[in-house]
Amino acid sequence: MNPTRVFVSKAAINAISSLINVPFLRRVGYYLVDKKIQEKLLKEQQKGVLPRMILDQGQMIRNMIKAFDRWVGNKNVKRTSVKKLIRSFLNMGSKENKTIMENFERQFGFSTPRFITLSPTKRCNLECIGCYASSDAESFNHLDYDTINRIVREQKNLWGSHFTVISGGEPLVYKSQGKDILDLVEENPDTFFLMYTNGTLIDKKTAERMGEQANITPSVSVEGLEEETDWRRGKGTHKKILRAFDNLREAGVLYGISITVTTENAELVFSPEFIDYYFGQQGVYYAWIFQYMPIGRSYDLKLMATPEQRVGMFRKMNYWVYEKELFIADFWNSGTACNGCLSAGRKGGYIYIDWNGNVMPCVFNPYTSHNIKEVYASGGDLNDVLLSPLMKKIRDWQNGYYDHGNNGNERGNMLAPCPIRDHHGELRAILEETGAKPADESAETALEDREYYEGMVKYGREVEEMTKLIWEKEYLGIEEKTLKEAKSR
Ligand code: SF4
Repeated sequence: MNPTRVFVSKAAINAISSLINVPFLRRVGYYLVDKKIQEKLLKEQQKGVLPRMILDQGQMIRNMIKAFDRWVGNKNVKRTSVKKLIRSFLNMGSKENKTIMENFERQFGFSTPRFITLSPTKRCNLECIGCYASSDAESFNHLDYDTINRIVREQKNLWGSHFTVISGGEPLVYKSQGKDILDLVEENPDTFFLMYTNGTLIDKKTAERMGEQANITPSVSVEGLEEETDWRRGKGTHKKILRAFDNLREAGVLYGISITVTTENAELVFSPEFIDYYFGQQGVYYAWIFQYMPIGRSYDLKLMATPEQRVGMFRKMNYWVYEKELFIADFWNSGTACNGCLSAGRKGGYIYIDWNGNVMPCVFNPYTSHNIKEVYASGGDLNDVLLSPLMKKIRDWQNGYYDHGNNGNERGNMLAPCPIRDHHGELRAILEETGAKPADESAETALEDREYYEGMVKYGREVEEMTKLIWEKEYLGIEEKTLKEAKSR
């Protein structure tokens, strides 16, 4: 994760991808990688990154390596697949990419993003409660295949970025110009794909295809255990997901889960029962946690995990991350492991492109100033989007917040890193200043909804109150005594 980056030559990538299949050499390799990363992180510390953030970053990488090790050790995993996956993954750190990144930085004065999230279609085969996606044929909004392939190619050529996240709608229903989403994966073996999917379409054949390709990991959405998942996604969905897990295991695919946390399931998500069920019994290798964000159809602020729940989840997540070394990341509570907000194409971050071609700073920030189809039609490329005032202003906010916080004299609280939910007033000012447009009707409604605005601002204030002490004590390292004295003054 950002900011750690180790660059190796193409020859070294080929050698590593072959040697990684030998268990002893793998151990030695992990030891060396771990050592190298720790050295890199120490250098970051010398540049002023907080020691506890360095620890969080190091542990995240360690857990990622452990998850990978578990996968390689699985008897269903083909040795050729290990080679393919490692090659696509390590491409992100090849020396050739280093040159591309350095040239970009020289030309534009800031660092390249690490990845893109792409939703090629709005269409979905399910009708989950509250979801924006649709099963109806009329809303078959999608990007054509040539466009998504061009985006993935440009990412590599312009930014040296070999990581693409595919979201939806349901990516596995995507069809365009006679191709599906796994054709995209196949045509770009030097890119690693993370695909969010509802899992219900992963039959044996699809799983085998993914196992052969290996440069893809599906992250299957669940809402909790069977009861919670079926309640939101439809009766019988969980059983289909279990069949998908069986197929993925048999085909030796690296797979995980993603879960949207609301006030309703916040206590369940990090419970021993939940973790044991998915990591133990179902054999998932990782879990992404997304706290519900009130955007999209019928947004509801009451579903956002309360500030108390958010802190509770932070504590519980750290138990699983540090004590059990599981690869779990929470889009908000893991802000310390990636230096805060990843949106707007900042260093190590990303931009989001939806099925209509609207380019947004982040999946959860439905405001836009560019449409990629128009950019391409007028002879532009992904860099035009990155240089837009909207993206630039958000990056300026991120940099300022990280260096100085809200008060101008201290580091920004990375336990409250999000301009949308933790600093909504500041985001609104940026949207107004840059003239960003809502990407859909719900985003337009939210802009005009005073209650929404006030609710979001209040939520941000409460989160700051709840997390400030943890941030000051455990990250800034300020003694409790000093804090009490400062407060009583
Ligand atoms: S804007 Fe918020 S949700 Fe989006 S990347 Fe930043 S912190 Fe995450």
